[in-house]
Amino acid sequence: MLTVQASLVLPSMELSSNTKKLQLVRNNGSGQILARAITSSGNRQLSNSNNQPEYDVVVVGGGIVGVATARELITHHPSLKFAVIEKDSQLAAHQSGHNSGVIHAGIYYLPGSLKAKLCVEGLTLAYEYCDKNNIPYKKCGKLIVAVEKFQLAQIDALYERGKKNNVKDMQMIERDKIKEIEPHCKGLKAIWSPHTGIVDWARVTRSFGNNFQKFGGKIHFNFNVKGFKIAPEGQKGPNKYPVRITSDKHESIRCRYVITCGGLYSDKLAQMSGCSSEPQIVPFRGEYLLLKPEKCHLVKGNIYPVPNPKFPFLGVHFTPRMDGSVWLGPNAVPAFKREGYKMTDFSIPEFFEMVKYRGFQKLVCKYPAAGMGELLLFLMFGPSGVRAQAMNSKGELVDDFVFDGGKGELAKRVLHVRNAPSPGATSSLAIAKMIKSKVEEKFEL
Ligand SMILES: Cc1cc2nc3c(=O)[nH]c(=O)nc-3n(C[C@H](O)[C@H](O)[C@H](O)COP(=O)(O)OP(=O)(O)OC[C@H]3O[C@@H](n4cnc5c(N)ncnc54)[C@H](O)[C@@H]3O)c2cc1C
Repeated sequence: MLTVQASLVLPSMELSSNTKKLQLVRNNGSGQILARAITSSGNRQLSNSNNQPEYDVVVVGGGIVGVATARELITHHPSLKFAVIEKDSQLAAHQSGHNSGVIHAGIYYLPGSLKAKLCVEGLTLAYEYCDKNNIPYKKCGKLIVAVEKFQLAQIDALYERGKKNNVKDMQMIERDKIKEIEPHCKGLKAIWSPHTGIVDWARVTRSFGNNFQKFGGKIHFNFNVKGFKIAPEGQKGPNKYPVRITSDKHESIRCRYVITCGGLYSDKLAQMSGCSSEPQIVPFRGEYLLLKPEKCHLVKGNIYPVPNPKFPFLGVHFTPRMDGSVWLGPNAVPAFKREGYKMTDFSIPEFFEMVKYRGFQKLVCKYPAAGMGELLLFLMFGPSGVRAQAMNSKGELVDDFVFDGGKGELAKRVLHVRNAPSPGATSSLAIAKMIKSKVEEKFEL
């Protein structure tokens, strides 16, 4: 279909710094001359005469879900051209780089849910990936500890749930064994999950990105997607790539198909192709406290309380980090800005959008302020993350995956991942496989 006409070596100033060669090629269908940039990392990208890059599939969102998906697709379809578009200047700039860093085993989730299945599958895939790609992790295990008598029935139910989810090698242990595993932890009974671990998920995301680029994928940074347009039927002349993705700086990229994995802005991206505003993303900031360095030896692995069924979004725990520090958190408070990591971060439109949302108002009535105890003796203030919590208009938190298409002609060409709930980092490789199957069914790849 494409005939190479000429191959020129250009001065590096004319193109991006890693562009080594520009090939001029003719699209036999339209006769139009296209420029193909070949970069030092082997990226393949076509540009049309308007200098708009062209791809078969574009994934919007450079978080762990988007990049894992792009990597999965390119490894199975090496002859197609893929790109990832990210509005920031690096990968994992948001949830994927601001989380607890736990490799979860899948104990808590509703048996039979996608969330449970993908977490259990994702843990195995994540360890295999880290081993193959020399990414350091620690399989330090996790204790879920009952400290009060009323929690004993709850911990038994949780154990049964973990068994139904096929969590590997989980054990119910008593006081003495708790002490053996965590000498400074006291409890009546605990679930011990030996395969729970810790890793730097931002590093894993970057590794997925490098892998994707090695297969010829291209990553466009600083491209803030503001709209999707489709060329009208019949106007398909040069238009093998009928979807036009535009940015806030009026740049455009053309493609055949789009997948969006936009995290905190997944609802906005879906609306850009005519989808409903629901479920809406309500951002919850999770703040951490740090154990003082001289107290870090007190915690060896992850230590969690038995979850309080009244506050489903609170999962405060001790977690050791790869750098040797220990975090305590996160709490969950509504954030006044979707990507606002400081208490003082405030966006007027995003704040009003959240408080005006019926679902959010209902949630506030259900859960009046859950106070935190005074814990500050051994602790210092630490980092924070913002969770993309999908919520429906009844104020119910949407707990499982939500996929959506566009409207009209776009519907055939767009797949929005509107909710990829926590533990999305652990599950990312399994989520990527699931999205790949969906996309192969929906798009004509
Ligand atoms: C506080 C906290 C703790 C967590 N702890 C854990 C844990 O221990 N273990 C675990 O497995 N999971 C954990 N999670 C969940 C996990 O981090 C997320 O599920 C996962 O990172 C989601 O990845 P993502 O790619 O969907 O979203 P993100 O990482 O948020 O990526 C979305 C990307 O899309 C980009 N984007 C959005 N809009 C546009 C646009 N218009 N144009 C271009 N780009 C756009 C954003 O810039 C962003 O980079 C935690 C989450 C939080 C918030």
